[in-house]
Amino acid sequence: MSFGLAGNKELLEQEAHRLYGLLGSVSYRQDLKWTYADCLQAAPYTLTINQLKKEQNAVILAHSYTVPELVLGVADFSGDSYALSLKAREVSEEKIVFAGVWFMAETAKILNPSKQVIIPAGKAGCSLADAITAQEVRALKQKYPNVPVLCYVNSTAEVKAECDVCVTSGNVFDIAENLPQKELIFVPDLLMAKNIEQELIRRGNPKKIIAAGGSCCVHDKYTVQDVQKLRADYKDIVMICHPECQPEVCAACDYVASTKGMQDFVEKSEAKIFGMLTEQGLVNRLEAAFQDKKFVWPFGTCQYMKQNTLENTFQALLEPQPDQIVTLPEDVLVLAQKSLQKMFELSK
Ligand code: SF4
Repeated sequence: MSFGLAGNKELLEQEAHRLYGLLGSVSYRQDLKWTYADCLQAAPYTLTINQLKKEQNAVILAHSYTVPELVLGVADFSGDSYALSLKAREVSEEKIVFAGVWFMAETAKILNPSKQVIIPAGKAGCSLADAITAQEVRALKQKYPNVPVLCYVNSTAEVKAECDVCVTSGNVFDIAENLPQKELIFVPDLLMAKNIEQELIRRGNPKKIIAAGGSCCVHDKYTVQDVQKLRADYKDIVMICHPECQPEVCAACDYVASTKGMQDFVEKSEAKIFGMLTEQGLVNRLEAAFQDKKFVWPFGTCQYMKQNTLENTFQALLEPQPDQIVTLPEDVLVLAQKSLQKMFELSK
């Protein structure tokens, strides 16, 4: 592939310096940091992608769990599922390049259907979204008639279309609490379902959660032993985890929050060292944003999110393949839109 303006040595060096300013504090693999040489290699891609964006009237939305060279080097906006869905609704550019997994790109299409939505990683899966089908949700609805169905945003468009209200990790506890019913169906995260039950007990409003699905292959691997080890290794460490973790792990941590909730917590906290039981991409963002704080991260990389690269983002802008372009049947799109709109209404 040809890079056009990226053949200019001076421009490349300028771009490498810009990238090094953004990426120099970020861990590449565990303790390895980005070097200027890494940035020089990335520079032809970031220069060209940023140029193509302008020429094509495109915007790049990147989930925090994708690679840092995308998040910091070319994304116009990055964040968690909820923040990205809010952003996708208001995009005025003609094209949305969504660096994330397939269900997220579908969500962008549902919320802004007149735009072309392309995803560099193609049909990148998610162990949660792939854990339940629309048919299985229909069977649950038959078995438990009149019980409202909540679906975590990490679900396919077909599953969202079968549900009453979509939720994210940032609003799930409040929405579950504020619904009047004492019994709720929740898909497709079995661990988050248990965490909802625990949280509602803690809030003095217990409810029965009927759950189906699976778990996040990144967050469900963390154990109470990981928490204990980090506490033993680092004095004064503040342990933070995501509600996709096991309930015992959540109970052993100091703070449980969505991706955005973790960022806000770190920003306000006086602590200097944090144990992060989440995905590497968020740790990288925190390292870049809070260089006076230390983040310890035992492991946890989402193989699906990392399928988005500078190379396939460049290729998808230049010549998107059919499996990189999001299309949805009209009936699915309209019904899924309703469950997302309901979430926005209930989150106000
Ligand atoms: S981190 Fe977990 S929930 Fe998020 S996309 Fe990866 S597998 Fe799915």
